[in-house]
Amino acid sequence: MQADLRINARWVIPMTGGRASLLSQQALFIKDGRILACESQTSTTLSASETLDLDHHVLMPGYINAHGHAAMSLFRGIADDLPLMTWLQDHIWPAEGRWVDEDFVRSGTTLAIAEMLKCGTTTFADMYFYPAPVADSALQAGIRNVIFTPVLDFPTNFAQNADEYIKKAIAAHDGYRHHDLLTLGLGPHAPYTVSDGPLKEITTLADQLDVPLQIHLQETAFEVSQSLEQFGCRPTQRLADLGFMTERVSCVHMTQISDEDIAILQHSGASVVHCPESNLKLASGFCPSARLLEQGINVAIGTDGAASNNDLNMQGEMKTAATLAKAVAGDAAAVPAAQALYMATMGGARALGIDDQTGSLENGKWADLQAIDLSQLAQQPLYNPLSQLVYTDSSRATSHVWVAGKNLLRQGELTTLDEEKIRADAIQWAARIKAG
Ligand SMILES: [Zn+2]
Repeated sequence: MQADLRINARWVIPMTGGRASLLSQQALFIKDGRILACESQTSTTLSASETLDLDHHVLMPGYINAHGHAAMSLFRGIADDLPLMTWLQDHIWPAEGRWVDEDFVRSGTTLAIAEMLKCGTTTFADMYFYPAPVADSALQAGIRNVIFTPVLDFPTNFAQNADEYIKKAIAAHDGYRHHDLLTLGLGPHAPYTVSDGPLKEITTLADQLDVPLQIHLQETAFEVSQSLEQFGCRPTQRLADLGFMTERVSCVHMTQISDEDIAILQHSGASVVHCPESNLKLASGFCPSARLLEQGINVAIGTDGAASNNDLNMQGEMKTAATLAKAVAGDAAAVPAAQALYMATMGGARALGIDDQTGSLENGKWADLQAIDLSQLAQQPLYNPLSQLVYTDSSRATSHVWVAGKNLLRQGELTTLDEEKIRADAIQWAARIKAG
């Protein structure tokens, strides 16, 4: 069998068998956008029409940014150093009301995609208004994208009420689900912004359409106390009582966790998306990721939007997740480098329900890969590649990215996007937004 491309890599992390382990001197073969084989360079008998030698690189699955609001990159730095509800109610929601439309979403999403590709992300989950321009931007760039069309009770520029959001989510699903790069799900924003009726309807709909769900959950202590007052139970319990909690669901944040919440997560098979930098910046709390992992709960990593982070660098997020876990657990052995790498790749794929397609280097899966050049100064000297990937600033060493076998980053240069045009567009948006 003749492959389209052979990549000879100094190291490969296949992310198979439930863990990140390191192999040396491997040849990875790609055919028709998928992984054909990954074998020892010396013993393989396969041939390929093109060969790429990466003598100082780690080849591994691309990062999966399991939660974000890509278009919000245009609000990067617009309101900092504020608690969540003040930030949302006094700054973000008014700015969204004034500026967010299809053009804004197209520009902001493209800026976000460019930033993510340069740091090794091959899949991003997105919960934002106007799914069509998000999908179009992802397709144009060639990146994999899981879209959670948002649902809220209250009106925004995008829709007037829960019914209309749900209708628009169905339309996006029907319009885009045939693309290999796209998965269309629903994103009820949070338990405090979506009432019981629509949550039940979304649960039924997700079963009918067989799609993933994502929700912001227990982001702050305030959210939990408000739910106890209003509903007489914690938000996770309320969602479980509504039948919402299943393995389709990824719960974003979970900084407040009780034993009962853990039992619900275990029983339902739902995942948690840990967004440590957003939680730190908004002083929302600390997700006890090591405790969740010990209990067998799948934990993914997300950057959240650039307005509350303020970058979309999954490598940095992974480092924050690994180091914060140690502080929260009071245990320096909590979330070692290998586990953080797994969370940032396969953990994300599982949370988004796409682990049969991506997240590891397995034969038949899409070739969603990144190569990181460990000969850079910041990675010297090199004792342990896994450690260098997580604990040094390795995002700047990302040299190549492929999604479905297509080379989207080559020697650090974007191949499908025009960086100068994206920069000029962002500057223009900022000028308009500043002028009000
Ligand atoms: Zn979010």
